Amino acid sequence: MKENEANVNDKRRSRMLLAGDIGGTKTLLGLFDCASPRPEPIATDSFPTLEYDDLSAMIAAFLQQHESRRESISAACFGVAGPVIGDTAELTNVPWRVDARRVAEAFRLKRTALLNDLQAMAYAVPLLRPSEIHVLQTGAPKPGGNIAVIAAGTGLGQALLHNVNGRFLPSPTEAGHADFCARTEREIVLLRELTARFGRAEVERVVSGRGLSNIHRVVHDGTCAAGIDPDDLESPAAISTAALERRCAECVEAFDIFIEAYGAEAGNLALRAMATAGVFLGGGIAPKILDALGGGAFMRAFRAKTPLEPLLEAVPVNVILNAEAGLLGAAVFAAAQ
Ligand SMILES: [Zn+2]
Repeated sequence: MKENEANVNDKRRSRMLLAGDIGGTKTLLGLFDCASPRPEPIATDSFPTLEYDDLSAMIAAFLQQHESRRESISAACFGVAGPVIGDTAELTNVPWRVDARRVAEAFRLKRTALLNDLQAMAYAVPLLRPSEIHVLQTGAPKPGGNIAVIAAGTGLGQALLHNVNGRFLPSPTEAGHADFCARTEREIVLLRELTARFGRAEVERVVSGRGLSNIHRVVHDGTCAAGIDPDDLESPAAISTAALERRCAECVEAFDIFIEAYGAEAGNLALRAMATAGVFLGGGIAPKILDALGGGAFMRAFRAKTPLEPLLEAVPVNVILNAEAGLLGAAVFAAAQ
């Protein structure tokens, strides 16, 4: 009896998970042990997404570095920035079509799953350690409440964690492509400009790195004192830096509009999800602008939903500091399969 148990444990220890977080700009691939509920990373690598023809080519390059562990991979899960339909996904900002069954066949994997990237991140949220979280609003979490995740990066992603009898069930959304809700005169001007330029104003056109570049374009009536070209791929980071260093008044305005719109959209998500157990900010932008998010404007915009301000004041709001939360969540899902 005891011998059998030891064998099972040895098998579990030797099993390995392959996880991926496929973004518009970069992709993380990782090998994880099978520890439950939180698998630990054994090896992770970052790849420029657009430099590969497809996911299989990237996985092949990754596994070449870890040839000795290849045989022990028992399950795989990939978070992809786009809607997942059945076993396939078309990525929103990358000319890739990912097919889970083809990946499984190519690498002889028993189980391969695809999740929306924010849904994958949602699987990691209940397992995050206190050191992986920065608190923006302590609030007073309600037992039985849901959790919501919002992440501005290259694009804007949102996901829900439904509380089902105390267990959180992540579900995806395509809410970044829902309409931008203008609340102020300057946001109405922005809405008008975005509609003229793109045909409609998705909230992702405002609340994302590219969104910040769009706002920059609208608020600058002539040259930018910081010399930033909003068409430059690196412009979102440059605009935030110029704003924080107060090198250009219009860049400061653009950044202020971005922070408020992000807070307002996080508040909209909290209302839609009844996220009384917490709202988590993921994505690459939030951890880089913690001081600006804590400056007051973000949380004011989050709470300004009269008559439901008291409800929103009680919602815990946190920034996810672990840059590999999406990858971890994919591993969590693979381990649970
Ligand atoms: Zn400027």
